[in-house]
Amino acid sequence: MTPFGAAQGAPSDSRGARRLGVLGGTFDPIHFGHLDAADAARSALALDEVLFVPSHDPPHRPIHPHATAFHRFALVALAIDNHAGCRVSDLEVRRPGNSYTADTLRSLRAGGWQPWELYFILGADAFAEIATWYEFPAVLDGAHFVVVARPGVTIDAALSRGPELLARVRAAAPRGAMAGPTAIFRVEARTRDVSSTAIRARLAARQPIDDLVPAGVARHIAAHHLYLESHLHGHDQDVQGT
Ligand code: ATP
Ligand code: MG
Repeated sequence: MTPFGAAQGAPSDSRGARRLGVLGGTFDPIHFGHLDAADAARSALALDEVLFVPSHDPPHRPIHPHATAFHRFALVALAIDNHAGCRVSDLEVRRPGNSYTADTLRSLRAGGWQPWELYFILGADAFAEIATWYEFPAVLDGAHFVVVARPGVTIDAALSRGPELLARVRAAAPRGAMAGPTAIFRVEARTRDVSSTAIRARLAARQPIDDLVPAGVARHIAAHHLYLESHLHGHDQDVQGT
């Protein structure tokens, strides 16, 4: 039983000062930009922990993601091994169908988390699309949203998509529970300019990716021949016997 278990439920804490970061994504593959975003959000909002939640393989969409959920989950686990304050969750990979953030936040709340204890972390590029998300705008009530700047996409640009979003932006209290209505927080950090798309392109071109991902991630990708050109249009296949 771990203190911030998602499926197991959250511990009761009379101080009500728990803060759990949740970083969802395809992580196809995970890279330094994801780790930077998690670290920036964790330190800006004094989060106890950040839970990485790789998405389920979408049904009826064989082209994306490029690696299976099993490999993407393994890559996240390898990336955060020894990375303080981070854990990986199997919440979405275990759940059939499309992975919707609204459902994931609902599962966490069913496990005992209050909306104001949850901090859903996302890059400005992802937040710019928030109005298209499943259960928007209700999804915003399920957790605080933490928007981290991403090279090339400012938070202002993402927030300019709707005045109703701007109205929810608040300054974070340094510690303690932020009970009450959930808010949107801005984190103006400089994360490394890396994308999974760029990594897949490099791998398809047989170029090294060591400057973009932790060493364990690069090793796993190489060992399992992930993201090679022949696999770009479908799921990776394991080499017999590996
Ligand atoms: P792809 O190129 O396949 O879309 P990606 O690099 O954008 O991959 P995702 O798995 O789509 O990675 O991203 C998961 C979350 O992490 C999203 O909210 C995204 O905005 C955020 N993110 C990814 N890279 C960065 C970065 N360098 N800085 C800040 N946020 C990032
Ligand atoms: Mg992306």
